[in-house]
Amino acid sequence: ASQHNYDVTRMETVKWTDIGGHEAVKALLHESVVWFYQNSDAFQKLGISPGKGVLLYGPPGTGKTLLGKAVASESGANFLSISIADLIKGEVGESEKAIAHTFRTARRCSPCVVFIDELEALFSRHDQMGEVGKKLFSQLVLEIDALDWRTAHVVLLCATNHPGSLDPSLLRAGRIDRLIAVSPPSRTERADILRAVSTHMRLHKDVDLKDIAARTRGKTGADLRELVRRASLAALARLGMESKVCRKRTEFQVIPLSAKYTDTHVS
Ligand code: ATP
Repeated sequence: ASQHNYDVTRMETVKWTDIGGHEAVKALLHESVVWFYQNSDAFQKLGISPGKGVLLYGPPGTGKTLLGKAVASESGANFLSISIADLIKGEVGESEKAIAHTFRTARRCSPCVVFIDELEALFSRHDQMGEVGKKLFSQLVLEIDALDWRTAHVVLLCATNHPGSLDPSLLRAGRIDRLIAVSPPSRTERADILRAVSTHMRLHKDVDLKDIAARTRGKTGADLRELVRRASLAALARLGMESKVCRKRTEFQVIPLSAKYTDTHVS
């Protein structure tokens, strides 16, 4: 893998409950992908396979990558992730080899979910799609057409911020034929996200996540995670100062107390 200009990663565990909001998206992904991995024997007997590819589209930071990781975790599948934007920077020959290598690895690591990020980078220059882009595109189509659930449990998840710029031949039936919108969060979803990203933190009793959700209109999950991170850093900094003040106070109190104790003890 290292000779290619792309990244294949083993993922950390992400559960549905780690993702705030997106209830409808999670349900759709669960029915259309996770179920098949979880009940592969039953589906195999019925001769039913999942679709080959799903496209998650929506603005940056709304949690598409996180949803992809959760699909793999919830399915008990491995997760291979590549970015088209990285691949396209490679030499002619290299990038399509990288795609082929990824799908080969995925088949070997079955059950596996392949996640392709920034799919729009394939088409960003459309007519002037360079030689690398054209080869990459043909290789990707070849790999999707060759996916066969009966021999390897591999599903492709793709993410893009610009669904309009994708080539329709990639999105036709039998290829990436399930399109799921990942929208910026509503007010209640923002509260859910704030709860999800602060779940391992001890919040002050005055912290009102619903109120923060109401005041963060237009913010994405990534923004809210950053907000919570900064708030916890600020709290830490304040705590550091307070604990110094406390220590002084305690010392102040300890001295007369111990003096009194000594006095009592002596007497
Ligand atoms: P991009 O298009 O920029 O790649 P993306 O839609 O793939 O963005 P992620 O990378 O999944 O977004 O989100 C960035 C981070 O923001 C996540 O790792 C997660 O910590 C946080 N995040 C985003 N959405 C949510 C959510 N709904 N619930 C909890 N955390 C979230």
